Amino acid sequence: MSVVDMHTHFLPKQWPNLAKKFGGGEWPWMHHTEPGKAMLMLGDKDFRPVYEACWNPAVRLEEMDRDGIDIQVMCATPLLFAYAKKANEAHECAKIFNDLALDICAHDNNRLKALAQVPLQDIDKSCEEVSRAAKNGHVGVQIGNHVGDKNLDDEGLVTFLQHCASENISVLVHPWDMLGGNRMPKYMLQWLVAMPAETQLSILSLILSGAFEHISKDLKLCFAHGGGNFAFQLGRVDNAWRHRDIIRQDCPNLPSSYTDRFYVDSAVFSDESLQLLTNVMGEDRVLLGSDSPFPLGEQRVGTLVRENKALTDKAKQKILGLNAMEFFNL
Ligand SMILES: [Zn+2]
Repeated sequence: MSVVDMHTHFLPKQWPNLAKKFGGGEWPWMHHTEPGKAMLMLGDKDFRPVYEACWNPAVRLEEMDRDGIDIQVMCATPLLFAYAKKANEAHECAKIFNDLALDICAHDNNRLKALAQVPLQDIDKSCEEVSRAAKNGHVGVQIGNHVGDKNLDDEGLVTFLQHCASENISVLVHPWDMLGGNRMPKYMLQWLVAMPAETQLSILSLILSGAFEHISKDLKLCFAHGGGNFAFQLGRVDNAWRHRDIIRQDCPNLPSSYTDRFYVDSAVFSDESLQLLTNVMGEDRVLLGSDSPFPLGEQRVGTLVRENKALTDKAKQKILGLNAMEFFNL
């Protein structure tokens, strides 16, 4: 069995000057501050300190060997999505990063795999780009969990998900552009509070809108960070569904009955959370995901799963690799 870390991020070492290319606006760029270290910038503001593993495949492979990881699936950071820009700019941007991702993977195509990004504000362009990327070797696509005010149950976004299902392209949903930012300016509260809420909101938008009643059961859909607040709050949602008709109006079945329609990664950082998550989702529906090499990721990838006292060896094998092999058709 191969051990697969299905949620990791990359940043190319350099990319074209997007502000210049598109005639202005705030775009991300890399400020290389010293050998092996860089600051990811947005316009003239610091966004996140990053290090060499983001762009150097040799360093990624060294860390994978250190942690006993056979295969890494990497995706861009949501900062690069450009969903708020003009669709043709975001499309161009997606092509640039999708092609640069494959350059990193080319260092060892058996061990480094990539998810594409798409200009999700334009569904036709997104379908075109995800098909192009899949042909070129991407094993799936990463999308943000919303586009402006549109949640995943938006008609266009459902069309995109259907397109992915029809072409057997796996989808990772990553929270981004977090709600309530004005009240969370400090302490990374947007990452700690709003991100898990964003993901829960996305899952519930698909369940309570009845979208899962129409979306193909072939769709392979995974939510990052253990699905955020979803598993812990599912009892609250079921209770509400039983007692309030406004929650049942578009959702014919008990919300918890839809947990067989999607997957979650294991990036929850505590034994108790991982146990709860596996109980709620089932051991076939949790995939090892570390969020490395970013600072909020698991520092020794796989430790949380391997050292969990409650999971059986069989469950650990599934979470560490078997589930991901199936999810990504590896
Ligand atoms: Zn992530």
